[in-house]
Amino acid sequence: VSAQELATLFLERIEALDPHIQAYLTVTPEEALAQAKAVDEKRARKEPLHPLAGIPIALKDNLCTRGIRTTAASKILYNFVPPYDATVVARLREIGMVFLGKTNLDEFAMGSSTENSGFRPTRNPWDLERVPGGSSGGSAAAVAAAEAPLALGSDTGGSIRQPAALCGIVGMKPTYGRVSRYGLIAYASSLDQIGPFARTVADCALLLQAISGHDPLDSTCLNLEVPDYVGALTGEIKGLRLGVPKEYFGVGVQPEVSAAVQQAIEVLANLGAVVEECSLPTTDYALAAYYIIAPAECSSNLARFDGVRYGLRSKEWVGHIGLTEKTRDEGFGTEVKQRIVVGTYALSAGYYDAYYRRAQQTRTLIRRDFDRAFERFDALVTPTSPTPAFRIGEKADPLEMKLADVCTIPVNMAGLPGLSVPCGFVNGLPVGLQLIGKPFDETTLLRIGHAYE
Ligand code: GLN
Repeated sequence: VSAQELATLFLERIEALDPHIQAYLTVTPEEALAQAKAVDEKRARKEPLHPLAGIPIALKDNLCTRGIRTTAASKILYNFVPPYDATVVARLREIGMVFLGKTNLDEFAMGSSTENSGFRPTRNPWDLERVPGGSSGGSAAAVAAAEAPLALGSDTGGSIRQPAALCGIVGMKPTYGRVSRYGLIAYASSLDQIGPFARTVADCALLLQAISGHDPLDSTCLNLEVPDYVGALTGEIKGLRLGVPKEYFGVGVQPEVSAAVQQAIEVLANLGAVVEECSLPTTDYALAAYYIIAPAECSSNLARFDGVRYGLRSKEWVGHIGLTEKTRDEGFGTEVKQRIVVGTYALSAGYYDAYYRRAQQTRTLIRRDFDRAFERFDALVTPTSPTPAFRIGEKADPLEMKLADVCTIPVNMAGLPGLSVPCGFVNGLPVGLQLIGKPFDETTLLRIGHAYE
């Protein structure tokens, strides 16, 4: 098929299904068809094409896209049209990928269900009464419903892996520093990382390859060689040492989910991996420390939304402080406001030592736990999410919602790569297996995931 036919196919699919699923905030048919046409013309001229040229993709709406509205699902950015592309977007544009549109998320990527979107919730394609997970729920639902073959998301505490698990697809958070964050609307800068969604590990590897590598515009993006991820998918995992941290099968993890993951671990053992139980004793502290560090960074990052520079500006206000106050009051949702308050408090002079410093110290201990485990193991295996997809409205308590990320948050705290691959069903709903790797060793995770699927 031509790139234009392929784009048309997906645009028709979006038109038919998205009224029910609501994965997209913005669909960009003109953009998509123009990009596809350019690829078809290149092919007609017999110019060399990237393997992903002409392939459609959906982009999470916190990735800046030149000339295309980018909202982070916040009312405060309802009319923001960036004058530049995020680095990952620029790279995909360059190789000729076709942009179908921008996908829904929890406002500023704060949440685990996409219910915190400032516009509307997204529904899980497996059961429209359930959430797709979050915060990249729109991207995950789009791929699961075949409204896009591939998508990009961002993951600060699980926002790629958890929705991938809940929607039955593959999702990867690369190592912190592997992919440029330039042009990603910042939530918590020391934890954020952009990554791929796909239906297979091989597709995931191909997309990761396209977005990885050094970028002078993001000083935390390291200048390391990007390995050949696709070439590493040999199907061979004999002798690889896999650790199973017992803390990830404890309280809160639904027994049926544990069972599905244990079964997947058996499959890996039958493929020749050497499996052994291990312990990461600081696991229990990760969630609490994360909910100091992430809000602290968000309170600083979100200070730029002042009603002056871009986005919403309140209609009625008195004085310049009043303008900012009114705009932020009208533009931010409840969850975002709560986090700004918590973060500002944790960073204030009198409480800095008690909260922020302790959280950072805890973070160091978490990383050391992982470092110690990786002296013995090539990768760790856990559930991605403690439960399958829950019902829309079921987790009204914000604390309960935050428990959805117990298995994924430690990985961000340590800056490690994590891959979620589907590993069966519980009551007809998909469950995910999480593979955690050494820093910058995405290759091993992809190899294991590919051998498993
Ligand atoms: N659910 C977590 C949070 O709300 C993680 C979100 C994310 O990874 N962006 O912070």
